[in-house]
Amino acid sequence: MGKLVVANWKMNKTIGEAEEFCSHFDKRAGNYMICCSATLIKPVFDCLKDRSKVGAQNICAYEEGAYTGEISAKMVKDAGADVTILGHSERRHIFNETNDDLRKKLDIANKYGLQVIFCVGETLEEHDNIESVLVNQLEILTKEDLGNLIIAYEPVWAIGTGKVATEEDILVAHKIVKDYVKRNYGNDVKVLYGGSVKPENAAEILKLNCVDGVLVGGASLDPVKFESLIKTANEVL
Ligand code: PEP
Repeated sequence: MGKLVVANWKMNKTIGEAEEFCSHFDKRAGNYMICCSATLIKPVFDCLKDRSKVGAQNICAYEEGAYTGEISAKMVKDAGADVTILGHSERRHIFNETNDDLRKKLDIANKYGLQVIFCVGETLEEHDNIESVLVNQLEILTKEDLGNLIIAYEPVWAIGTGKVATEEDILVAHKIVKDYVKRNYGNDVKVLYGGSVKPENAAEILKLNCVDGVLVGGASLDPVKFESLIKTANEVL
């Protein structure tokens, strides 16, 4: 099956562009997921439903009602999403999402059976205190969340910057996350690395035993690069 490659398209692609991207993958197997804007979930699902899971990038903390501009777990599920990213650093830092918001979103995701890719990571200023930063972000999880949860370690300073964490950085962070989850909940958890992953550096990252896959922003927008990442992830096992 290979290690997992998750695309985070962020706020990119029209429906036509998403369909064009998916046409490159409609006959290809691989262990990948595409997390896209709400308008793209249904078209991507229609193109790839037999081969890959489709995901949202966020859901509303509330179930339904008077929350103008928000999109609910039930809506993304209805459009074809099986997964949602929660706690991406752009949500935490640009939209000021807090641990309290994320706790509510986790509850709603659990209620609607959405698998969660839960992002954690430290800023450059926080790097020396990485353990306390990651633990603070992980502390909101409960045993119930962990049934089907994937964690993505994404150092904020490596997202979209071209800077990749060193092997040592990744080993340290993934160990903190995996040990915390095992110690507190008794579960093993899959941990992805994210932050400027591209075809040129993917093999080095994916060969690490503690890395169960990658979460990819920029390089996931190009079908040729994305396919190369899936191939690499499939070969490292
Ligand atoms: C991301 O958006 O989660 C990400 C890791 O972006 P990039 O690969 O562009 O750094």
